[in-house]
Amino acid sequence: MYCPQCGKEYAERVNFCCHCGTALATPVPVPRKKLMRSRKDHKIAGVCGGFAEYLGLDSTLVRIIWLTMTVFAGSGVLGYVIAWVVMPEEPLSQAAMDAPGSVVPQPAGNR
Ligand SMILES: [Zn+2]
Repeated sequence: MYCPQCGKEYAERVNFCCHCGTALATPVPVPRKKLMRSRKDHKIAGVCGGFAEYLGLDSTLVRIIWLTMTVFAGSGVLGYVIAWVVMPEEPLSQAAMDAPGSVVPQPAGNR
């Protein structure tokens, strides 16, 4: 692909030109993730696992942050209970689909 501004050629797909900063490719829209309690990554109710999946973070890191909030700010337990009530649980089909080792069939000719 070529930069329409300065004409620099790029061998691979890049989002912005390194020379002039022009946006070269519009980012592929990612399907909107829903905040749900995780079925496969949970210690109590899957709230921290759900937040970790939603934010793309390690669930252990989310638990550490949540525990720190609980100890130092005192709001973690109440927040957890509220999140437990408010957040829907991940559907069983999605939990099975995301399980490691499962093969998701790809539509043919979609490259
Ligand atoms: Zn450029």
